[in-house]
This record gives sequence, structure tokens and C-alpha cells, in this order.
Amino acid sequence: MIIYGSELALRYKADIREKVNKYKEEGKRIPKLGVILVGDNPASVSYVKGKRKACEDTGMAFELKELKDTVSQDELIAEIEKWNDDETIDGILVQLPLPEGIDENAVIEHIDHKKDVDGLTSYNAGKLFLGEDGFVPCTPLGVMAILKEMNVDLEGKNAVVIGRSSLVGLPVSKLLLNKHATVTVCHSRTKNLKEIASRADVLVVAIGKARFINHEYVKEGAFVIDVGVNRVDGKLCGDVDFDDVIDKVSMITPVPKGVGPMTIAMLMNNVLKAYEER
Ligand code: NAP
Repeated sequence: MIIYGSELALRYKADIREKVNKYKEEGKRIPKLGVILVGDNPASVSYVKGKRKACEDTGMAFELKELKDTVSQDELIAEIEKWNDDETIDGILVQLPLPEGIDENAVIEHIDHKKDVDGLTSYNAGKLFLGEDGFVPCTPLGVMAILKEMNVDLEGKNAVVIGRSSLVGLPVSKLLLNKHATVTVCHSRTKNLKEIASRADVLVVAIGKARFINHEYVKEGAFVIDVGVNRVDGKLCGDVDFDDVIDKVSMITPVPKGVGPMTIAMLMNNVLKAYEER
């Protein structure tokens, strides 16, 4: 079964739109996402465009602050702090990556944790670690929403996550643990990756290597979530060799139209959560 996150994302966005419309009808202000874009990296520009469109689709407000790639770390932090104090901004997102010479973690730490809709501050990472309510990064939330939609019962299942970034792999592994899966996290130094991956009932792949995972890494009947986004010959593809594994798996998300659209839907969900909590 091929699971189109793009279709699920439409449903999520329709629900969010309905809630935003209700607030509007009640005469309340509408939720607003503020995005800071440094420089003009084409991929970042395109991701920001997608976020603007998602705000339009859900009836939310969107504000973009564009800064030159010569901006200093202190100037960038000063802009974040202005938005921390701006009552009309509910969510603040700094589009990554930042230019060389700027310490991304140090910059992100300045986002008010109540507006940290990307869930990247140490405050929110700590909340996730402790199993408490906070903002969780959007891609991991999208992965979990897809598994929920497919009624995958995670309790006691072997889940293998390939990739341990703080944006994807690590939070996904904690969310799977919260659902009582037995979780193995793999990375570039993992030995016997094929053997470990091919024991997974649920395999989540987030490594950033085009079509790296073929049928030898996949258990018969596995649920495979492909988070990777790679461009080969101008075309998007995942970290999983889709055509090579399709006959072996029970369920797989494609690239494009898989996890990507769910990431944006979850971002809108986080902005709404920030608005409601504030
Ligand atoms: P990242 O920060 O570069 O992390 C990649 C992870 O993969 C690292 O933990 C690395 O191990 C591991 N890895 C690399 N090569 C490996 C190998 N040969 N075997 C096993 N593990 C390996 O990347 P990321 O931010 O997590 O993103 C991963 C992918 O997801 C990228 O393609 C990215 O574009 C995509 N992505 C998609 C979305 C979406 O919305 N669909 C959102 C975010 C990211 P080490 O830790 O040992 O280096």
C-alpha cells in the first residue's frame, strides 16, 4: 500500500482552516507564523514559499523577514527577539541552514519556547525527552501522524530509525518509544545495518542518501517511512529505492507526496497550538 501524506495533509489543513475560521468569526485575531530567511539559497526560498502557501490555505497570517547572508549572528538574534516581544506573532521559524559562521543552535536558542513551532530549542527538546507537552519538530510529528492514520499498532513492534539528527531521527525515535515500540537507532557508524534494518517491523529512514535502502534492508511485510528528500537528475527521490522494495513491503510512503506535505501540515498544527496556548 502506498501512503500519500499529501492526501492526509489536505485533511489536516482543512481541519485547521475550520478552527481558524471559527476564531475569525468570533472576532479574534488570526494565528500568525513569522519566518526569517537569511540569504537566497534556492531550496530554502522554495521551502519558505511552501510555508507561505500553507498559511494561505489554512487562513493564517504569514510574515517573512528576509536578511542578507552577510547579517551577523547578533543582528539575527536581535530580529528574533523583536518577534519574541511581538504579540501578533505566534510562531517563529528560522529557515535552516544558516550561512557559514553563524551558530545555528545558538540562534535557535533565542526563540521564545512558546513560539518555537519547529520544536528545536533545548527547552522543547527537553520536554520531548521527559515525555511532557511541548513543541515537537514537524517532520517527526508527520511520521507519527501517518502511522496513526494507518492504524499501525506500535506496541512491542521492532522499530528501526536510520538517522539520528535532532531534526528527524532522534525525535522520531523518542516518539516511537512513547508508543511502546522497541526502538533501534542507526547512524553512519552502525555495523551490520542491513541485518538490523531487515528485522524492523517499522523502518523509518532519514539519512539524505538517494535510494540507499533497497530490498536487502527491508523485512517482508514491513511498514516503511521514507523521510529522505534528494534530487537526482532534477527529480526528487527518497532514501529508499521505492521500485526495488515495493513488492516486499506492506506499506510505504513515496517521495514526493509522502512525508514532506505532512511536515508542512504539522507546522500549521504547531502554529495553531502556539496561538491557542498563548
Ligand atoms: P542529517 O542531519 O544530515 O542526518 C543524517 C543522518 O543519517 C545522520 O544521523 C547520519 O549519521 C545518518 N547517515 C548518513 N549516512 C548514513 C549511512 N550510510 N548509514 C546510516 N546512517 C547514515 O539529515 P536530516 O536533517 O536528518 O535529514 C535526513 C533526510 O531527510 C534528508 O534527505 C533531508 O532532506 C530529509 N528531510 C525531509 C524532511 C521532510 O519534510 N520530508 C524534513 C527534514 C529532512 P551520523 O549521525 O553518524 O552522521
